[in-house]
Amino acid sequence: MVELVKKNKLPISVFIVYIILFIVNGELGKQALSNTSYYLIEMFQILPVIFMLTVAIDILIPKEWIIKRLGSRSGIVGGVLALAFGSLSAGPIYAAFPIAKMLHKKGASVSNVVIILSAWAVIKVPMLANEMKFLGSEFMLTRWLLTVVLIMAIGWIMKKAKVPISGEEDQVNERLYVKEDYCIGCSACQKSMPQVFEMRQGKAYVIHENMEIDRALLQKNVAKCPTKAIIMNK
Ligand code: SF4
Repeated sequence: MVELVKKNKLPISVFIVYIILFIVNGELGKQALSNTSYYLIEMFQILPVIFMLTVAIDILIPKEWIIKRLGSRSGIVGGVLALAFGSLSAGPIYAAFPIAKMLHKKGASVSNVVIILSAWAVIKVPMLANEMKFLGSEFMLTRWLLTVVLIMAIGWIMKKAKVPISGEEDQVNERLYVKEDYCIGCSACQKSMPQVFEMRQGKAYVIHENMEIDRALLQKNVAKCPTKAIIMNK
């Protein structure tokens, strides 16, 4: 029972808030319920399409391509690509989350994920066209430029702060992982194979389990780890 409550703490908390709202102010409770229903219906209409798109990208775009073009070493090209992807997207921002998570799982860096999400939220091309129509091209261009600079800066800060993305532990699979307690943070593995290992708060993590990259080099890293923290199962 405790486990069930722990796993569902968010919906349970929302349910409790609704009950309190209905007790304190019935009218406000009804309004909140109506707004929630509206957004739930909208989400149920949009999310199936988004999930299909996510699966299509997952299947059609190779992991190596994403690592190269949107990974932690993709540099400014990766940033521009992320910006274009977010800007050319369509649909509400919550539709971007499953796609962003899938891209990160396949190798997109945290900063590029931030850029995609931020561009998706505030500088989508159809939105810019409308903005120009109502507020003028000078206003739109100035706002676009300042927003892009800020988006890039936020991506860089998130990367430097090593802010983790929930569910990354899923990537630490049975074939390759780092025993956190054993890792002393020497970063030898990360320096040798940055496409596979990443340092976060002084510990190495497997960011892209990709045995096809260079299995021999990977084995060398496993053997060279001073504390034998890297586990590679057959
Ligand atoms: S080589 Fe081993 S100890 Fe050093 S950072 Fe990598 S996993 Fe940690």
